[in-house]
Amino acid sequence: VKSVYTFGGGAKHDDPRSRDKTITGGKGANLAEMAEIGLPVPPGFTITTEECVRYLKDGADFSDALRAEAAQALAHIEQAVGKNFGDPSDPLLVSVRSGARVSMPGMMDTVLNLGLNDDTVTGLAAASGDDRFAWDSYRRFLQMYSDVVLGLDHGLFEEALDVAKEDRGYYNDTEMTAADWQQLVAEYKTIIADGLGKPFPQDVHEQLWGAIRAVFDSWDSDRARVYRRLNDIPGDWGTAVNVQAMVFGNMGDTSATGVAFTRDPATGERAYYGEWLVNAQGEDVVAGIRTPQYLTKAAREAAGAKPASMEEAMPEAYGELARVFELLEKHYADMQDIEFTVQQNKLWMLQTRSGKRTAKAALKMAVEMVGEGLIDEKTAILRVDPMALDQLLHPTLDPDAPRDVLTKGLPASPGAASGKIVLDADTAELWSGRGEKVILVRVETSPEDIHGMHAAQGVLTARGGMTSHAAVVARGMGRPCVSGASSVAINLSERSLQIGSRALKEGDLITIDGATGEVMAGQVPTIEPELAGDFGILMEWADKHRRMRVRTNAETPADCRMARQFGAEGIGLCRTEHMFFDASRISAVREMILADDEAGRRKALEKLLPEQRADFIEIFTTMAGLPCTIRLLDPPLHEFLPHSDAEFADLADVTGYNVDHLKRRANELHEFNPMLGHRGCRLGITFPEIYEMQARAIFEAACEVAASSGEAVVPEIMIPLVGTRRELQILRALVEETASKVFAEKDNTLDYLVGTMIELPRAALMAGEIAEEATFFSFGTNDLTQTTLGVSRDDSARFLSVYVDKGIFPRDPFVSLDIEGVGQLVTLAAERGRSTRPDIKLGICGEHGGDPASIQFCEETGLDYVSASPYRVPIARLAAAQAAL
Ligand code: ADP
Ligand code: MG
Ligand code: MG
Repeated sequence: VKSVYTFGGGAKHDDPRSRDKTITGGKGANLAEMAEIGLPVPPGFTITTEECVRYLKDGADFSDALRAEAAQALAHIEQAVGKNFGDPSDPLLVSVRSGARVSMPGMMDTVLNLGLNDDTVTGLAAASGDDRFAWDSYRRFLQMYSDVVLGLDHGLFEEALDVAKEDRGYYNDTEMTAADWQQLVAEYKTIIADGLGKPFPQDVHEQLWGAIRAVFDSWDSDRARVYRRLNDIPGDWGTAVNVQAMVFGNMGDTSATGVAFTRDPATGERAYYGEWLVNAQGEDVVAGIRTPQYLTKAAREAAGAKPASMEEAMPEAYGELARVFELLEKHYADMQDIEFTVQQNKLWMLQTRSGKRTAKAALKMAVEMVGEGLIDEKTAILRVDPMALDQLLHPTLDPDAPRDVLTKGLPASPGAASGKIVLDADTAELWSGRGEKVILVRVETSPEDIHGMHAAQGVLTARGGMTSHAAVVARGMGRPCVSGASSVAINLSERSLQIGSRALKEGDLITIDGATGEVMAGQVPTIEPELAGDFGILMEWADKHRRMRVRTNAETPADCRMARQFGAEGIGLCRTEHMFFDASRISAVREMILADDEAGRRKALEKLLPEQRADFIEIFTTMAGLPCTIRLLDPPLHEFLPHSDAEFADLADVTGYNVDHLKRRANELHEFNPMLGHRGCRLGITFPEIYEMQARAIFEAACEVAASSGEAVVPEIMIPLVGTRRELQILRALVEETASKVFAEKDNTLDYLVGTMIELPRAALMAGEIAEEATFFSFGTNDLTQTTLGVSRDDSARFLSVYVDKGIFPRDPFVSLDIEGVGQLVTLAAERGRSTRPDIKLGICGEHGGDPASIQFCEETGLDYVSASPYRVPIARLAAAQAAL
């Protein structure tokens, strides 16, 4: 098999590997694809990801075979362009670009204009007839290569440029003449020689292989590793390298460079969307050096901007671009994110990929493309990342609330966020680790800031357009972002900032609205999200295609209502202890816990009974006949105990015991390892009267709601932390006895289920026997993970991230189910449970019930339902549909 594939310039793309993203990376595969469908792509070649993996593993030099293949591919470019690499009279220049399977900021930045040296620069000047262009290209190349390949401080180069401009009284780069650039090149070479201890490599082949090596090395850079960890990208994919003939957007007023989307990536609207710059190169547009211009006349007019749009300034090239947009959307049946360059009025395509989009845009495009006949419903379902829905389910700013607007920037990523100002990524991470909400405020962001953007609620930048790093990354992460708010002036050394005329400092509260670009002082109130429209349509399609039911974990009527709005089909987990924490009841709970004997406990439980019954009446009423799984008391009793002296004093008043006595009792309840202590069904076994009261409250409530609403209420009573059949046998008998009593008293009867959580390895192993006592299992995967891994959920934060970094776990096992380990127990318990009770109902109610990867596993295991927290219900509905497709 080949390690190098050529594209463009008449190259054949018949080897399927050349267009396979896993082999040639996303960028390389799409360049080949575009060339294949006849679009203008500068010729080039791609070195495979396999070579990267080999290079990183062997730590060895490039093989002769690889060098030979690359030499042949380079000859292809030379022949297609009609110029030779390193030719001092008319040199071929190339770009060297990284490109992994998925687009991945954090890897090596692209090197442009490679192949320039002291000889070829004069050849370039002569051949193009443009001295200024040649020396401008050379200085760009020296700076880029030094920065990304040689690892020299780019600040030195920027400083030298600033000084050069200042000396000459210039304001813009465009004022620099050929002679000025030539002089700067000389200075750059001195900077390089000083920093490197040897001169800049003049040999063009040394330049080329140096850049290739840097691309491969960058796969293992810290930046790339952080990005991979945050985005669940495996470390063994490697990156491809693309070497491509340069086209020049910096050859005067008939040349330009730009980035574009075939639809609006923020709103999803069907309108071309993009930014471009005349007489510019490469990343000038996204770097925020000059303010980019609008692509279309309509967009320019809507923004009330002056500088001509591309549609107006270069109608021919724009027409060609619009034709390419249509072709690409049809070809990929998806919205495309495109990079292009116009060299002397001729359009060249440099990149296309499926564009990142906000959740709102993803929904709109998916629904509209079905309408346009571009894709079918199933594809539409698969197009939307379930986790991204999260962005839509959260509140937006209340339009009627007063706003103290400080300034307005670009609406770079929608959603609203409030938080304390932080001025760097590390502070963002630190403060958010302390549980504070923060807004990261930077001049502009770079890949080094990603961890801070992740930790922040939102991002505000002073510079950069809609396609700047901050905007693109924030949209991908679902963080609200306002970019290019030019009236924000940051003083890092004093940890303060000025927004317009207002002085602020780190720690001050602000609110940003990524949908309008507004930045406001203080915290602005929010309103609930809109769940109809495209969201409703896509959810309907998802419901049609999924097999598993989706329930919710909820214990308050408010949560139940919210979950039902989000489409929950029942309660999968109602944690009754949450009702015990209520301030008005806690003293009765404490009285119960601290009682000396059963009689004392019963007296306190009498007080709790009507309260619990009222809770269940509300829940059954809210859920209107949908199934409700109610778990009896689980946490260790000491969690409810008073802590402060004042609380003890209050309790003494209520119970009539003195404080010393209460403190002694509290001490007796102390446990060394409460997670494995006196909790769950162990409470029910030792203090049956507690579970008896809860069962009674449930049955009385169910009878009452059934009678008043006329609707069938079928409570599902769940016994937690069972490890043996006998435990469940005893407690089931208790529940059944209580039911009979209540039914006799009420002269009524109703159906109910008794089941258990599978959350101990022993329970999973003994599932066959346990199923003889249980009509349902609900996998409590939080505890099952904790007990199977022997990792305390509450203490794991200290080491789990290191475990994930080192690849010991692919993801945090408390967030995404450890399928190969814990998953085995789930599979086994499901099999054994079904073997003794074929119609046993199976569900999952841990955090994992809202995690798409875990939901996929649940589908494969054949569970009947997943249960997720209210906000995760739509995510689970969509993920369940995707899993079923
Ligand atoms: P990224 O993955 O960060 O977008 P790219 O490899 O796409 O990096 O390149 C960065 C910039 O350089 C883009 O604006 C791209 O259009 C430009 N560029 C890359 N290769 C060439 C080339 N051969 N000719 C002109 N511009 C190029
Ligand atoms: Mg880049
Ligand atoms: Mg690119």
